[in-house]
Amino acid sequence: MSVNQQAHTGLPYGQPQPGYQGYQQSSYGGQQMSGVHHSQYGAYNGPLPGYQQPAPSQGTLRAPPPTSGAPVPAGQPVYSQFGQGDVQNGIVTSAVQMQRPSASQPFIPGTAPTPVSQPATFQQYGPPPTSAQQLTNHMAGMQIGSSTLAPPPAGLGYGPPTSVPPASGSFTATGSGLYTSYSSSQGPPPVTMTHVLPPTSLSQGLSLAQPAFSGPPLSAQRLPQAPGFVPPPCSTGIGPSSYHPTTGAPRPSTMQGSQLPGHALTGLPTSQPNHVSSPPPHPAISGPAMTGLQGPPPPTHPSQSGYQMQQNGSFGQIRGPQPNYGGAYPGTSNYGSQPAPPPPPKRLDPDSIPSPIQVIEDDRNNRGSEPFITGVRGQVPPLVTTNFLVKDQGNANPRYIRCTSYNIPCTSDMAKQSQVPLAAVIKPLAALPTDEAPPYLVDHGEPGPIRCNRCKAYMCPFMQFIEGGRRFQCCFCSCVTEVPPHYFQHLDHTGKRVDFYDRPELSLGSYEFLATVSYCKNNKFPNPPAFIFMIDVSYNAVKSGLVRLICEELKSLLDFLPREGNMEESAIRVGFVTYNKVLHFYNVKSSLAQPQMMVVSDVADMFVPLLDGFLVNVNESRTVIVSLLDQIPEMFADTRETETVFAPVIQAGMEALKAAECAGKLFIFHTSLPIAEAPGKLKNRDDRKLINTDKEKTLFQPQTSFYSNLAKDCVAQGCCVDLFLFPNQYLDVATLGVVPYQTGGSIYKYAYFQLETDQERFLNDLRKDVQKEVGFDAVMRVRTSTGIRATDFFGAFYMSNTTDVELAGLDCDKTITVEFRHDDKLSEDSGALLQCALLYTSCAGQRRLRIHNLSLNCCTQLADLYRNCETDTLINCLAKFAYRGVLNNPVKTVRDTLINQCAQILACYRKNCASPSSAGQLILPECMKLLPVYLNCVLKSDVLQPGAEVTTDDRAYIRQLVSSMDVAETNVFFYPRLLPLTKVDVDSDTLPAAIRNSEERLSKGDLYLLENGLNIFVWVGVNVQQGLIQNLFGVSSFNHISSTLSTLPVLENPFSKRVRSIIDMFQAQRSRYMKLIIVKQEDKLEMLFKHFLVEDKSMSGGASYVDFLCHMHKEIRQLLS
Ligand SMILES: [Zn+2]
Repeated sequence: MSVNQQAHTGLPYGQPQPGYQGYQQSSYGGQQMSGVHHSQYGAYNGPLPGYQQPAPSQGTLRAPPPTSGAPVPAGQPVYSQFGQGDVQNGIVTSAVQMQRPSASQPFIPGTAPTPVSQPATFQQYGPPPTSAQQLTNHMAGMQIGSSTLAPPPAGLGYGPPTSVPPASGSFTATGSGLYTSYSSSQGPPPVTMTHVLPPTSLSQGLSLAQPAFSGPPLSAQRLPQAPGFVPPPCSTGIGPSSYHPTTGAPRPSTMQGSQLPGHALTGLPTSQPNHVSSPPPHPAISGPAMTGLQGPPPPTHPSQSGYQMQQNGSFGQIRGPQPNYGGAYPGTSNYGSQPAPPPPPKRLDPDSIPSPIQVIEDDRNNRGSEPFITGVRGQVPPLVTTNFLVKDQGNANPRYIRCTSYNIPCTSDMAKQSQVPLAAVIKPLAALPTDEAPPYLVDHGEPGPIRCNRCKAYMCPFMQFIEGGRRFQCCFCSCVTEVPPHYFQHLDHTGKRVDFYDRPELSLGSYEFLATVSYCKNNKFPNPPAFIFMIDVSYNAVKSGLVRLICEELKSLLDFLPREGNMEESAIRVGFVTYNKVLHFYNVKSSLAQPQMMVVSDVADMFVPLLDGFLVNVNESRTVIVSLLDQIPEMFADTRETETVFAPVIQAGMEALKAAECAGKLFIFHTSLPIAEAPGKLKNRDDRKLINTDKEKTLFQPQTSFYSNLAKDCVAQGCCVDLFLFPNQYLDVATLGVVPYQTGGSIYKYAYFQLETDQERFLNDLRKDVQKEVGFDAVMRVRTSTGIRATDFFGAFYMSNTTDVELAGLDCDKTITVEFRHDDKLSEDSGALLQCALLYTSCAGQRRLRIHNLSLNCCTQLADLYRNCETDTLINCLAKFAYRGVLNNPVKTVRDTLINQCAQILACYRKNCASPSSAGQLILPECMKLLPVYLNCVLKSDVLQPGAEVTTDDRAYIRQLVSSMDVAETNVFFYPRLLPLTKVDVDSDTLPAAIRNSEERLSKGDLYLLENGLNIFVWVGVNVQQGLIQNLFGVSSFNHISSTLSTLPVLENPFSKRVRSIIDMFQAQRSRYMKLIIVKQEDKLEMLFKHFLVEDKSMSGGASYVDFLCHMHKEIRQLLS
């Protein structure tokens, strides 16, 4: 079924539609939705008292799992294996033929779990990479000398997809402007300087003096502030200016580089080197760098133009090898290895370069207090890190759609020149804060929603009613459509319909339409969806206590299935399957005294052995379900089966949904590489030697196309797969993840799962996942006004044509990124419009259309583009482009392409928008001043530059996670939030300002909280006051703090309460429960923590922020010369 369905027209329409009579702008009359978080699901969302920690499970869950040698309690049924399709009442007690553990996947008791708690993404944290080859490769990829920019390897252009599934296709489709610029790194930039704009209030200069000497610099200096500014030019008033920061910015003038050389080299304090060869354990804890602990000073006073950048001997006029610096960007080979370090090189003062913290704080201060009102076209919303209230007055809430730029070039030439990707990050079912109303449901009656006759766009605030209201002209394609009689309304003197404020679709940016039967598969209204829980009961799953944990949890969790609005109970039916090498289906029909098990051992041709009694209503079958969940852990307590199948499990779930004629979701709990003989059987093909080779991409590709085909079938059925993985070794996430990914599902991974440390995280994830708002059997289409069109899509979905994004399921946390390209000229007058329409089946089986509209400005001056960009969104898109790129390209090529593209973006600004200035200046657009630091974080992320501790599965997992992340998630994922806990005011709800992610900002006497959306660290300095340690950890000294804690102890003092409440608040803000890791300074886990100090040089060879900024400057200069 397509969103593009023809609407019925001309049917009589008599009475007002329920749901919006009496609609006022502020609240829609009788609707019960206002003010309630997800109000249509209000009954199951939000905190559930007494639910977070289900009491019944606590005692038993922590008990050791039954050991395999334990005798079966008297009277306990024993699992028996029946032939295909056999039915047995109750659980039989006949003897079992247990299989020996397979030699191909040995289980060695006592060796699998790691003893300390570690985050899912970084198990086996090891020593820093020592392989000379690896480092050499990094260096080859990232040389810094002015003449050594590596040319692209021959034939490494981004080609069309080869063997990958459509939804995760090639790095670029043909004609992609994003990556076609590749060759320009070898020559002068393709742009020509056509107009030089006066400097604007948004430009920001980073002066970078030419080194006045040719030898290696001997010391670093910090420049005094502002030795000489040119007077700030007038703010030209272009673009929205009402929210420019009032402190620290604007920085209207650029600092002249010409004044620098005289100051640059004399008599200033030495800053801390950050790439000495043998760093002391904590080089920055004391001394001058301590000033950073108070947070960076306000970078400049208001009239100051920009950042004075200390030159670094590593670029510019350097010739010949630079001692200690040749490898500084980014793969230095001398870290920790050279016995006799040369003198530390000069470097920039970190306080003088753009600070993410300052930008975040400025935006909070300037834009956090006023509501963001969406009535004006092309407004840039506040940053995702700012708390702000949104009032929908005709454009979609930025929680639904964020764009890389809100003012897009009128022509494709301009767009190509700037290299700024034009993209929208769309989260169609985003959860809104409780004080923002969810979309109103509009019912246009039997004929269905009013649409444009030609392009099928849905009625929206931008449609123009003409001829006294009898017709309307489409804002997307200009076609004129008759208004059906039942929808007719008179116009007022301004040409506005008099019912404008009574109809959400005329006055709001986001709303829903009730879909008619013609929007349904086979012209039949859908059945309510079903959830099927499919539990791996092989040896590892049973032994770790996982099976018991899941069964216990489900008993209470089934009461919290999603339900519609004020419905008393959920319409979702549930079913249960367990499996190892064979599948066990359960009949839990309410009329049965005991559940029945049916075993299907012929996994080669999967079928569902029962229809009646497999999918049931929870309340009706509660007794039988509880009985089943009690029995499953016992039935398999003595299993010796270590092998599992995987594809047949998905097939079984899909077939069950097909038989029940409904959409739904499979929750699969799986522990190992599926090596048992069955379709979709996999082999262990992990090979770390492929890293940094042309074959590295194969690590991200599925090892068989079987799962892509299966995914296609699942999408056709509306079968979404959520996968919970509990691996003790490689299980090929790249392949197992294909179906969850292409069906809009989620993957969760708990490596070396241990009840003690991981159950809270797993249970929280499971609860959130089961309860969250989700739509099924969905199709999304993005329409645009003439001149641009959606050309590329990123995220977890499937596409069978070039326009429709198909999603078996779509939950409130998933985003889809859409890239736009010009197919014609745009005009400044009419701007550009987007309309995202999502057709889906609600959790109660109602077919709906969710519509989001957004209007953007268009510009003929590049400066307007650069003034209205959103760097966080840009980074989200660039990361997704790059993470898709690694499927088909060498990782080094992907990194080089990213750097080159960003250099072009900034060079274009410099050339066309900044005031003329010396080449030694790095001038960044105000809106993009964080582009270098954030880009560097993407480049050194585990997918693009893995350290030795990052497994192949971790990389595949993260690649998929990031592909569906929204802007707030990528922001904190790439640049973690770091809070000084001693600055926390226990009597206030406000948080202290975060600090920059660098070791030199940490104090030995402080405690810090760092979160990135997947992990939370509490870092404890060695000199923290004993009283604080006592208050937070309940122990007497630093040495007594256990680094294996997975939660902070519950202590009755204000500091403990406040810190725990901050952690709880962070947890609630994220879609996944973050793993808590306590890191003591100088402890071995500190290495792991330092991985997240992203402004520093990384162990895997990633450049420090300072070094990378210098590198970017060099790239930009090269493009400009
Ligand atoms: Zn149209």
